[in-house]
Order: sequence, then structure tokens, then C-alpha cells
Amino acid sequence: MYANRVLSGMRPTGSLHLGHYHGVLKNWVNLQHEYECLFFVADWHALTTHYDTPEVIQDNVWEMVIDWLAAGVDPSQATLFIQSQVPEHAELHLLLSMITPLGWLERVPTYKDQQEKLSEKDLSTYGFLGYPLLQSADILIYRANQVPVGEDQVPHIEFTREMARRFNHLYGREPGFEQKAAAAVKKMGSKKARLYEELRTRYQEQGVDEALESAQALLNEQQNLSLGDRERLFGYLEGGGKMILAEPQALLTAASRMPGLDGQKMSKSYNNTISLREDADSVTKKIRTMPTDPARVRRTDPGSPEKCPVWQLHLVYSSEEVQTWVRAGCTSAGIGCLECKQPVIEGVLKEQEPMRERARMYQESPSLVRNLIADGCEKARDLARETMRDVREAMGLRYD
Ligand code: SF4
Repeated sequence: MYANRVLSGMRPTGSLHLGHYHGVLKNWVNLQHEYECLFFVADWHALTTHYDTPEVIQDNVWEMVIDWLAAGVDPSQATLFIQSQVPEHAELHLLLSMITPLGWLERVPTYKDQQEKLSEKDLSTYGFLGYPLLQSADILIYRANQVPVGEDQVPHIEFTREMARRFNHLYGREPGFEQKAAAAVKKMGSKKARLYEELRTRYQEQGVDEALESAQALLNEQQNLSLGDRERLFGYLEGGGKMILAEPQALLTAASRMPGLDGQKMSKSYNNTISLREDADSVTKKIRTMPTDPARVRRTDPGSPEKCPVWQLHLVYSSEEVQTWVRAGCTSAGIGCLECKQPVIEGVLKEQEPMRERARMYQESPSLVRNLIADGCEKARDLARETMRDVREAMGLRYD
């Protein structure tokens, strides 16, 4: 409902690798050209699983921000901030917790999954159970309507939508709502008011989704409406009360299965990663020592690319021409494995070159990073305060 706003966060629990680049950061870089983007360091989320090793978080926050910048996230286009520096997230989390049925949290599929996966940690904590709700607060506080997620995170967005609906249902019913909404329609001017009413009727009587979208776009263009009136008219459109919290949509991102050095998905837990800014010698050494098709014991033994982890990397980094060369050379033993690995080494180094370049500037001047994050926190806080004013008022907590 509000302007196209994207929110996404990352937990600072380790240095970023090329899997993060291909899976998340490349997408962020594209999104920042298209939407108003807010990207945040999810340090409180990291504490839900790393509460006994907070030093991990401390060590990784600034390096992670440098990784983002190195990957091409542009602070002049996107707002970058740290979750814990916008305490309003915690306030909204607390207030939402008053109306969150316990069963809703226990049913979130990742709750049990993660507990089983991270069985070495005691995750029978209140914070861990509540982390989807904290995630909801992160999204709802910015009235973000687009949240980039993979398939496995869709239930979290659905949970957030349910929370927004529950909140609006409980607190959006102000006395005299219909009259106030009708008065707000008039403020749009006669032509636009007529159009709004037509679209609203078409949506409510015939269920035409395009009519709803057009009416929402019309409201987004209105400069002369107060925030309260805008919330009323969004709610009025759908036949409900005031829409204080906006329901987000999942912006589905295709699952990226960036292969690691052993052919499995690149992941810190498999110890098969190449860091985003790893130095060239180390990258070269790692790729040169990668395992290959076990059938190629001698240089003269033919192999099958499909059985080789290096081939997976060719699929990411090499042109069709090079891939054809690999296929022909591998299956006929026409090329050696070291020869075959060379274009992959070059591809990875070429991808990392601008990242190292961009990172250098920020590493040499840490105050630059601190300042841009301070600016981002300030901007985020302003947006969060706007929502919290309405939330507090709706919940009877306004005392000024
Ligand atoms: S030639 Fe290339 S694809 Fe074939 S086994 Fe060696 S590294 Fe793998």
C-alpha cells in the first residue's frame, strides 16, 4: 500500500562469501535501482542464536557492511542501518507480542527445523521462539510492502501479514470511521474522489484486483492527505477499518545454489567457501586444489564434467564457448584439470576485482562507514517513529 519499499536484513554471524553475493547481494544491488530499499544488519536476530557468543556479532558487523558496499550496494540509493540502533523495532516487537497467539509462533515451520539443525545450542528460549515476530516488527515498522525472500521464508511473510491484519482488526476500528473516511475522500478533489469511489465499488462489488491496485496507486500519488486519512482510505478500500500496519508481499527470489569448492552448496558449515574479498593467491590456491572427477586419476583418463565440482563453477563463470571446450577436453582427456580450472580462477578473480577496489576505500577510512551507517540509522529511525506514533495512539499509549 505505501510507496514501493523493500526491506531486507542479514545476520552478522560470519564473513560473507560468494554464496552470499550470488544469493542475496546481487539481488539487493538490482533492487536498489528499482525500489526504495532499506537494508539492515540484523544484530538482534543474531543474538537469538548467538546469545552466548556476542563477540561474533561485534567482530562481524562492520566487516559485513564493507562486504555489502564492496558488492555494489550503494548508500546513496539505499538506506543501510543497524537494527539495534533503531530501538523502535523492540518497542513494536513488544507491543505486537501482546496480541500474538502463542500457537502462531510455535507453528512457524522454521522454529522446529532450526532447533533440530542447531541442536548443539539450547534454543528453548523466549527470544528464539519470538524471532519471527521480531522479523514482523522489522517489516511492519517501515510499512515495507516488498520483502525479498526465498521459498522457505514465505511462511514468515504470511505470518507478518496475519499479524498486520490482526493488529488492524483490533485497533483500526475508530469511532465514526465511515464518516471520517468519506470526509477524507472529499479532500482528494472531485475528479479523483469520483475515480476512487468507482474503483472501490468495482473492487468491493466485483472483486476486480486491478481496481484495488489502481486505487492504491491513486492514494500513493495524493500529496495532500494526512497519514491518518491515507490509512483510513486504504482500509476503506478493502472494506475494513484504518490500515495502520501494511501487509507486505513476498518478493520471491529464485533460489541460488552457488556451488562451493566441493560441489555442495557454498556454506560456512561445509568449509567450502571463497570469501567475497579473499586475496587472489588464496583464491587461486583453493581452486587449483579443488577435487575433480575421481575417474581422472591420470592426465590421460577421460572424465565427465557432471561428476566434477569444477564444472559447477564453469556453469556460473564461463561462457558457452568455454563450457564447450571443457566438455570436449574433459571427455576426451584433451585437457588437464589444472588447465580446465584456469578460466574459473580468472572468472572469480574478475568478479572480485571491483569488490576489492570498492572495499579498499572503506577499509582505509573506517569513519566513512560509521558515518554512512549513522546517517542510515537516522533515516530509518524517522520512518520507524512515524509508524510508532500511529501504533501507540491506536493502542491507547499516547500521552503528549
Ligand atoms: S577436466 Fe575439468 S571438468 Fe573434467 S574432471 Fe578435470 S576439472 Fe573437472
